[in-house]
Amino acid sequence: MEQRVLVVGAGLMGRGIAQVFASRGCAVTLTDVGDQVLARGLEEIRRSLTRLADEGLGERAEIEPTLGRIRVTTDLDAAAPGIDLAVEAVTENLELKRRVFRRLDARCPPGAILATNTSVISITEIAEGCRRPERVVGAHFWNPAVLVPLVEVVPGERTSAAVVEATVALLAAAGKHPVRIRKDVPGFVGNRLQHALWREAISIVEQGIATPEVVDEVVKHGFGLRLPVLGPLENAELVGLDLTLAIHDYLLKHLDASPSPSPLLSEKVAAGELGFKTGRGFRDWSPQEMDRVRTGLETHLLRLRKGG
Ligand code: NAD
Repeated sequence: MEQRVLVVGAGLMGRGIAQVFASRGCAVTLTDVGDQVLARGLEEIRRSLTRLADEGLGERAEIEPTLGRIRVTTDLDAAAPGIDLAVEAVTENLELKRRVFRRLDARCPPGAILATNTSVISITEIAEGCRRPERVVGAHFWNPAVLVPLVEVVPGERTSAAVVEATVALLAAAGKHPVRIRKDVPGFVGNRLQHALWREAISIVEQGIATPEVVDEVVKHGFGLRLPVLGPLENAELVGLDLTLAIHDYLLKHLDASPSPSPLLSEKVAAGELGFKTGRGFRDWSPQEMDRVRTGLETHLLRLRKGG
């Protein structure tokens, strides 16, 4: 690929997205607000490329050339002219994202695609104030961006169909699995599904129905095993829509349908129990256990990538 790609934000997602495009031959500029975070981003990309090569999923000889295609700078305005695609991956905050998009809109070439990696925020709202909202589109990568294939491509109310199609084509050429979402709704599809599950999981703990450990075991050793090969709608078809209807008729009234976050979750955050960030959340986490979970996830995703 010969596109020139600008990635705004060199945090967890931005550096992964930069690696995806640089690995496919694109000239990438990675920007952030400070030199330290940019240096850390490059370090992480080197670590990831090395791990992929160790696993036989990349060429060792390609590590330096790939890194050589990534330029880092804190000067977004100077980097924007002359690019084909911008992917914004700054902190999840509507006002910040709007400011970034107004700058991109003013400085990127008229034909450039301006994509946001927001997890849940409306694309239409992010594009507000842009002169060319038809160029703004959602491209929602999943963490880790290098190993998870899915990218949800989300049009805002004013995004042109041509921009959606061009974004899908670029992502497919970059080796991702883009899907077209039809409507700009908060959370798109993936996070609506994921957080419906998390809300119920937290509610089960809150009601004392099961411990956090057991909730996770039920998923990991039960229906979670089916998910890579059977989506929820395929699963409903498999068991029969009549059975699905009968279950919903009996069960739905017992599920958590609260429109606000659970009090238990709010209490934990207020007490500084944030999970891995503080070593305590729904349960206690030692540094060794956190390491085991992180490494386990990466190893699992690498194995899936090797398999197919
Ligand atoms: P992060 O905190 O790791 O990185 C955000 C980066 O943005 C930071 O390095 C910060 O310095 C930088 N930044 C802030 N203001 C900036 C500006 N004006 N210009 C340039 N850079 C700026 O966050 P993240 O997890 O990488 O998330 C980034 C985006 O991706 C968010 O919108 C998030 O919702 C989305 N996202 C996150 C995940 C995830 O699992 N973490 C998954 C998919 C999408």
